[in-house]
Amino acid sequence: MSEVTQTFRPGLERVAAYRAGKPAPVGPDGRSIKLSSNENPYPPLPAVVARLAEVLPHSISRYPSIAAEELTGALAARFDVAADNIALGAGSVEVAAQLIHALTAPGDEVMFAWRSFEAYPILVRVAGAVPVEVPLDAEHRHDLPAMAAAITDRTRLVFVCNPNNPTGTVVTAAELEAFMALVPRDVLVVVDEAYVHFDRAAESPSGIDFFRRFPNIAVLHTFSKAYGLAGLRVGYAIAPTDVAEALRKVAIPFAVSRLAQEAAVASLAAEAELDARVEDMVAERARLTAALLAAGVPAVPSEANFVWLPVGDGAAGVAAALEERGISARAFAGEGVRVSIGDPTENDAVIGAAAAIAAAAT
Ligand code: PMP
Repeated sequence: MSEVTQTFRPGLERVAAYRAGKPAPVGPDGRSIKLSSNENPYPPLPAVVARLAEVLPHSISRYPSIAAEELTGALAARFDVAADNIALGAGSVEVAAQLIHALTAPGDEVMFAWRSFEAYPILVRVAGAVPVEVPLDAEHRHDLPAMAAAITDRTRLVFVCNPNNPTGTVVTAAELEAFMALVPRDVLVVVDEAYVHFDRAAESPSGIDFFRRFPNIAVLHTFSKAYGLAGLRVGYAIAPTDVAEALRKVAIPFAVSRLAQEAAVASLAAEAELDARVEDMVAERARLTAALLAAGVPAVPSEANFVWLPVGDGAAGVAAALEERGISARAFAGEGVRVSIGDPTENDAVIGAAAAIAAAAT
């Protein structure tokens, strides 16, 4: 049979498919420790599992509710916003894609800091829009003045990833305020708060407060990180009503399963217990960071559930040293390695590798 060659949309040749965090290799002690995707190391709460078990028999053969009334209502109550301000997706990555599809025409620009969440440039190119990457500053933080200066007539959206993936750094409320004063009102600023629950910096902005004060702010949240539901795929935007309505138009119908909706509702009801786990992860982050620094590993103080090691050309060597011990982390060639916070024994394994990481880093 002769091979048929299809014609793909222009620009797709420049798109690399999203690269997920590697599974962990098996280490010398038979363990494999996956610290490459910023997941929650803990299983879902018993109340969430119980709810899933209860609804499972009724959740598979029927389509889920597209309006997701219960979850939308619970989120509206939680944040004191209107249900009309909420748009859901199969993970916040789908909502980010919705934002790009709803707001950009081919050739329009979408700005974000770089390095930041790897999906941004992929989603932007897939939509036919143009990614504009503004380098982080020397402290691995957003350079908001440079981002404001890079806005053009074609800029439609700006993602501010706070805390930033993979560096764990945050902007301050004062910096975001100064930035908003420079952003034209017809440019939507999306504060991606995937890791907001882990942020303990006193100066950090609350995206929701900014949403209440500015007509051109949307906030992205996910149930994948602090709430530990990465495998169920549910995230949302809190956005101006016209934006949220546009997101619902471009959303993939039925993308958020009934199981995901139910688990999210049950998680919101169990927020206090989830917060206690987040506190443990924040304490573990401090322990891991201090141990790495003490061993001479460059580690950037983080407000997220991962730590960035800016080891430059040592990235591949550091990742290899971890893999030898059955630990997978996320290496960015020539830049650094991101290590997610695991449970205490997993973090112990990373701390045990600190001397080897320091040796490979140089
Ligand atoms: N935003 C940021 C900054 C992320 O790091 C991630 C996941 N790695 C997401 C959004 C998407 O997460 P999800 O689709 O699981 O909600």
